[in-house]
Amino acid sequence: MKAVLDHVGIAVQDVDKALAFFRDALGLEVEVTEEVYSQRVRAHFMPTGQSALELLEATATDSAIAKYIGKRGPGLHHITLRVPDIRETLAQLKTRGVRLVDEQPRPGAEGALVAFIHPSAAHGVLVELKQAARRLVEQWVTQMALGDLRLTTVSDGSFRLDGGAMFGVVPRPLWEKKAPPDDRGRIVLAMRALLVEADWGRMLIDCGAGDKLDAKWSDIFGLERTRSLDQTLAEAGVAPEAIDVVLATHLHFDHMGGAVSRTASGLVPHFPKARYVIRRGEWEAALEQHPRSRGSYFTDDFLPLERAGVVDFFDEDREIRPGVRVVRASGHTAHHQVVYIESGGKTAVCPADVVATQAHIQDNWIAALDLFPMESFAFKQRFLREAIDREHLIFFDHDPSISAGYIREKDGKRTVQRVI
Ligand SMILES: [Zn+2]
Ligand SMILES: [Zn+2]
Repeated sequence: MKAVLDHVGIAVQDVDKALAFFRDALGLEVEVTEEVYSQRVRAHFMPTGQSALELLEATATDSAIAKYIGKRGPGLHHITLRVPDIRETLAQLKTRGVRLVDEQPRPGAEGALVAFIHPSAAHGVLVELKQAARRLVEQWVTQMALGDLRLTTVSDGSFRLDGGAMFGVVPRPLWEKKAPPDDRGRIVLAMRALLVEADWGRMLIDCGAGDKLDAKWSDIFGLERTRSLDQTLAEAGVAPEAIDVVLATHLHFDHMGGAVSRTASGLVPHFPKARYVIRRGEWEAALEQHPRSRGSYFTDDFLPLERAGVVDFFDEDREIRPGVRVVRASGHTAHHQVVYIESGGKTAVCPADVVATQAHIQDNWIAALDLFPMESFAFKQRFLREAIDREHLIFFDHDPSISAGYIREKDGKRTVQRVI
């Protein structure tokens, strides 16, 4: 086990007095203040080189910190060691008979997973183990906690689309700096699905292109499934049989191609135990096979689902499962939807093709592929304003280098602060 000192936690009774010492007298800076609702604690992080001090303030009388202070008074509360794989570390400790407070990791601050070792096993010191939000396998699998939910991005590889088509009226000299095109004018786009794990089960939001594209179209779209969704799901410890719900943002092949597999017995749902939750308006538009949009809708990606009786249709914006709700975002298609994920007072959003990559965080950087670009603009303007003002964590399904981050705005200039 390779552990690194992450931070030292100090329980404080009066945070203003504590800041007067640590910040004002010692000259440390508070970098982040975060509420950890599940623990009823407010944590103030003060970096000290490679590590940090964490001032812990109780936000309720039944908080563990309040109880600790009541028993022992303020002071050193815990040390935190950062480990690469918290589950592996806990398993190792268990086999050595080390007494644990948490046998399973739980969500901590900043998207981390944490677990405590009992002080009796650690010579009187409360030791916290932490696995930071991180890339499990480069950008193929990334994982973080959001309140009580675990969010894992799982890649189905990448594909390529014409750069001009992805940026609409934006001139190439502007977009090519952010998304360099290949010799055929195409830019690389990731295909990432989002796995949501909760006490009600496992949901996959979108599921990549799958393996049904023939050689000609695989070449046109530069499809590269060096790691397929099944492989990345396996790296996250999840088999296709373990998926309970597949939620479609829309039915384009790069989002729902993976829903159906070609087998010896024909086309079958790829996730055998899942319900497939699909907006009726999007389904009807996809079936229409209009010449303007049929290049992105392949009926083999969704008709077999209906034949297998595994589709749950719905019409209006609604909560799909506790903490997961959809909002219609017409523009890219008439019934495209964005997915809001809410837990522990935090909000993450899958905007899918409304904000496909970090280059699309400007209101007017809209794909020429969009069927109703003025509607895209109107939705995006509202959506991005709210995302910035309310600090929504954005998942960029198609961005080749960032899985999720916050959009920051300073002096009218927008940037993305990476989280995973
Ligand atoms: Zn699309
Ligand atoms: Zn897409």
